[in-house]
Amino acid sequence: MPSTAELAPPSTSSHSAAAANASAASFAALVECVGYLDASDIEQLRRAYRFADEAHLGQTRKNGEPYITHPIAVAVECAGWKLDAQALMAALLHDTIEDCGVEKREILERFGSPVAELVDGLTKLDKLHFTTREQTQAESFRKMLLAMARDVRVILVKLADRTHNMRTLGDVPRSKWGRTARETLDIYAPIAHRLGLNRCYRELQELSFAHLFPWRHAVLTKAVKRARTRRVDLIDLVKKEVHQALSSAGIQADLQGREKSLFSIYRKMRQKHLSFSQVTDIYGLRVIVHDQLQCYTALGVLHQLYKPLPGRFKDHIAIAKANGYQSLHTTVAGPRSVSIEFQMRTETMHWVAEAGVAAHWLYKARGLKNEGAEVLGTQWLQSLLDIQRDTSDASEFWDHIKIDLFPDAVYVFTPKNEIIALPRGATLLDFAYEIHSDVGDHCAGGEVNGQAVALRAELRNGDVVSVWTDSKVSPSPQWLSQVRTGRARAKIRHHLKTLAESESRDLGQRMLEQAVRAEGFARLPPQEDRYRALWDRVLRFSGNRTRDELFTDIGQGKRIASIVAKRFLPLLAELGERPDPILLSQARFAASEADATSDNLVLDGSESTMVSYSQCCHPIPGDRIDGYLGRGEGIAVHRLGCAVGERLRGKDAERFISVSWAEQPIRNFNAALEVVLANGRGVLANVAQAVAQAEADIVHVDMGNEPAAASAQLRLLVGVRDTEHLDTALRILRRLPSVMGVERI
Ligand code: MN
Repeated sequence: MPSTAELAPPSTSSHSAAAANASAASFAALVECVGYLDASDIEQLRRAYRFADEAHLGQTRKNGEPYITHPIAVAVECAGWKLDAQALMAALLHDTIEDCGVEKREILERFGSPVAELVDGLTKLDKLHFTTREQTQAESFRKMLLAMARDVRVILVKLADRTHNMRTLGDVPRSKWGRTARETLDIYAPIAHRLGLNRCYRELQELSFAHLFPWRHAVLTKAVKRARTRRVDLIDLVKKEVHQALSSAGIQADLQGREKSLFSIYRKMRQKHLSFSQVTDIYGLRVIVHDQLQCYTALGVLHQLYKPLPGRFKDHIAIAKANGYQSLHTTVAGPRSVSIEFQMRTETMHWVAEAGVAAHWLYKARGLKNEGAEVLGTQWLQSLLDIQRDTSDASEFWDHIKIDLFPDAVYVFTPKNEIIALPRGATLLDFAYEIHSDVGDHCAGGEVNGQAVALRAELRNGDVVSVWTDSKVSPSPQWLSQVRTGRARAKIRHHLKTLAESESRDLGQRMLEQAVRAEGFARLPPQEDRYRALWDRVLRFSGNRTRDELFTDIGQGKRIASIVAKRFLPLLAELGERPDPILLSQARFAASEADATSDNLVLDGSESTMVSYSQCCHPIPGDRIDGYLGRGEGIAVHRLGCAVGERLRGKDAERFISVSWAEQPIRNFNAALEVVLANGRGVLANVAQAVAQAEADIVHVDMGNEPAAASAQLRLLVGVRDTEHLDTALRILRRLPSVMGVERI
């Protein structure tokens, strides 16, 4: 085995011998941390080190040290997580492609494909620049997550890289602190947190805080130091009492004092408007015991020793957090009535709590069985991969991720008592998608704690949830407003997109034809040689590659037909074509008589996803209606005079298009009624009978909560053919003696 001495650069280099020794010495430091690897792995590491050292020759860090000290420090950090040899080699090589012009092929040939892929993934991350513009941020983020979902080791090395760069941020000019620290706080720290790498998360937060707000950081540091000296006696007393109590219960425990990080103190003070002492007057102690049972026993012992504060006990052992975290939490009133927070956990739980996904390698290194930390972490990665695959728009993706990255979870149970974690506010439909995307796509409803609920019903901690599926059900645009998880939203959008593409293309073409006609041209310029240049210019203007794509965009409301149509005018004029005055005046006439135009969109109820009948006014055939072209959500049909529609018209008039009913709609439509009933026996049955007599269907009933009052208000959704049919139903209802009034709403 070659000694490190012969790795020293040739004396002709500008490097000083001292600097070379420094880096060789620090490789020795790395070797000291990798006792868990075998000799051949270490030899591989040495080869990677030698290659990287040569590649970085002559480069220095901002503090003047040879550059190689940085990759070594990153590898040491990764060795702390007991990552495997491939990951450590990638850590050593992580800047060689980007900074030294080494090619991926070379790394592939020397070190094999897995290492080359890791380094390549890291290089890509290095090129990302997060700006405050959301679009760019989303784009970068997505690439980063792509790499991440392929191999979580890329993210771990990247986090180690970022950690070392943050530790040495003091060496770079102050003007660069803000951006790097912000980015760390906004992007990297949350990722570390989400992956359960708590120690790394706290350090990144702490370093970001120190560089973003050096003065506030300094003040808090001092305050914490002062508080610490004040509480030493108390903590010692508590430790002694707890130790005694636990050992007389036969429990050997490791007691650790726990301090809030400066950043979390700072954030609590700001967010909750608390004073420093309010935030820090709670002491924290961690009790690490041998097994899970002892966690609960220790809890019982503590609750006998000190009085527990109500509502502060949390069992994160039975219900682990989404990132794998497990512990029992309780707060008690300790000596001198000071509040003390206790965490009880096993050693294994402790590793997971500190190292998250990286605990996987920690287990391996210690020859222990992996207990699920990695499984949970990669489940999350898998769901990111799903989102990524179903989404093409960068800012949309960012929206999904933002929701998933900052979880505020609720825990619900399947009928088989499996625990499912969902973000707060998640609905039955989210739950269905969490089970399986097929279950989500065909979700027809479900039960929460044995009660039938709607798709949009919000789930609460501890709910027992089951869903019903129906193969005839499929996602509609309204579903998007009924889910909260990024996963469900991406799945729904994906489904709608595929289904709606051809529909919206046809719709868009018709709309553009209509708009061109309004400008005085009988038809769209056909796809002929004569119009090729014209189409090219229109497409360049709209930013589409093909005509079909343009039509689809118009049909989905991403582009406005009338604006595109106006674009044709000068181009057609260049070809010597002028608008037809008769068509123009017709268009003007039609504009004043909304329904008169013959070539508007005709609705017969067969439209699936691109047309929706709005829930605010429930239009039915016979009503005067128009269509609002939502952004990417197709057309929502409103009754004229509907308050919601009018508000939209106020701010978005150009998105309205004229629509009309077909002569013979193919299905029934729902109308909403409000019925005031004299309270009495059997009145509901009477109403149902009357509706049936009118040959209408009751789709939904909603009754006011005042059963004791003399009258009751009933909201009905009835399925009818058209306004005439509805009038018949209303007449029959009004004849009932128990009905005091009926009105359509
Ligand atoms: Mn680096």
